[in-house]
Amino acid sequence: MDRQQEFVLRTLEERDIRFLRLWFTDVLGTLKSVSVAPAELEAAFEEGIGFDGSAIEGFARVHESDMIAIPDPGTFQVFPFEGGASGESARMFCDIAMPDGSPAWADPRHVLRRTLARAAERGFTFYTHPEIEFFLLEDLPADGSEPRPVDSGGYFDNTTHPVARDFRRQTVLALERIGISVEFSHHEVAPGQQEIDLRYADALTTADNVMTFRHVVKEVALSQGVRATFMPKPFTHQPGSGMHTHLSLFEGERNAFHDPTDPMKLSPVARSFIAGLLRHAREYTAITNQWVNSYKRLFPEPMPDNINEVPAFVSWGHLNRSALVRVPAYGKPNSARVEIRSMDTACNPYLAYAVLLAAGMKGIEEKYDLPPGAEDDVWGLSDAERRALGFEPLPQDLAEALDVMAGSDFVAETLGESVFDFFLKNKRAEWEAYARRVTPYERRRYLNIF
Ligand code: GLN
Ligand code: MG
Ligand code: MG
Ligand code: MG
Repeated sequence: MDRQQEFVLRTLEERDIRFLRLWFTDVLGTLKSVSVAPAELEAAFEEGIGFDGSAIEGFARVHESDMIAIPDPGTFQVFPFEGGASGESARMFCDIAMPDGSPAWADPRHVLRRTLARAAERGFTFYTHPEIEFFLLEDLPADGSEPRPVDSGGYFDNTTHPVARDFRRQTVLALERIGISVEFSHHEVAPGQQEIDLRYADALTTADNVMTFRHVVKEVALSQGVRATFMPKPFTHQPGSGMHTHLSLFEGERNAFHDPTDPMKLSPVARSFIAGLLRHAREYTAITNQWVNSYKRLFPEPMPDNINEVPAFVSWGHLNRSALVRVPAYGKPNSARVEIRSMDTACNPYLAYAVLLAAGMKGIEEKYDLPPGAEDDVWGLSDAERRALGFEPLPQDLAEALDVMAGSDFVAETLGESVFDFFLKNKRAEWEAYARRVTPYERRRYLNIF
């Protein structure tokens, strides 16, 4: 047993923790959890915990269903705010293996690890820093009617409903207590909408942190008698919830995106990385924006002053909040980074980081040229102007995103053929289920006029 494993066992004993949750993530980004008694843990470290992979979305076909969850002791955390009368609980993320010990092709953590390893061969470490938006609601109506936001606040408002303010405080404290550092938190534009920004970390840690974050936020909300949702666009006439993510590559201690001699302080590596993010954007959008509803956020009804601030076109810029990729102004050389603005909070963060890194690395490896940036609001241009400037639209709905992804060698290679095929099949079924349905909107619009 190694030192980290011993530390876990000792901590469980010292703190008398009876419930240890083993977490992993399915292909669609849903958190899965199995509780083990501490007595089982030594064996779990040695041999893993067996489970039926065919019951997990995207994990296995029925004839190869035996899978093994191997806890990663580096992710061990005690949850001091959970458990109530039954005491504290703790969790660890797991890597998933096949019975012969080889990594399971469908484990999103493995997909990301593999992509990180490829970048590491070229000397790069990939860091990410997510800005996570979500809504706090009074209720989650099961009949599909509009939920009620907990407050009527707006961007950076400080005088909103006491729930939201105390909620952010409690959430930030809970996250800090389990080792997830928070940089900022504030009220977002829409009523009930919140944002919490995590400190940057290597991409595997951040992906684990995003999974943990979604769980903690929902728990804290429940404990305050409200509900949290990461649904990308719950309200037709309010902005949706995105997960802007800042990306950077380091070579050792040095930020590889920074170049003091460049007028924009961007290194050739950064330029090619951005070019890769742009050139492959249409191909990976199904991964960063994976639900029918995701596209209602990216293509909202027009609102005054574009308060949606969403990117719908493939472009990059500095201050421009309609650009897909934004280069924020930064102070210290080590904070050089680029922000991807399409991604939403309901993605699978492991797969999303994998395709973003792979797209950027392709740009670097094949030395893509960075096209000119967009300093105007891309929404304000006409279609013809956008075409002339080369700002292609992102896929307009899930069906189009899947069609583009289906033709992408780069996404297939990054996800692996099996995850790629499963994802397309599962998501096409989701699209069909949505598109075939006759909706109240249609009845309202057509019953009377035809
Ligand atoms: N809510 C917006 C989105 O959907 C972002 C708003 C902002 O952070 N500027 O991406
Ligand atoms: Mg922000
Ligand atoms: Mg925001
Ligand atoms: Mg941002």
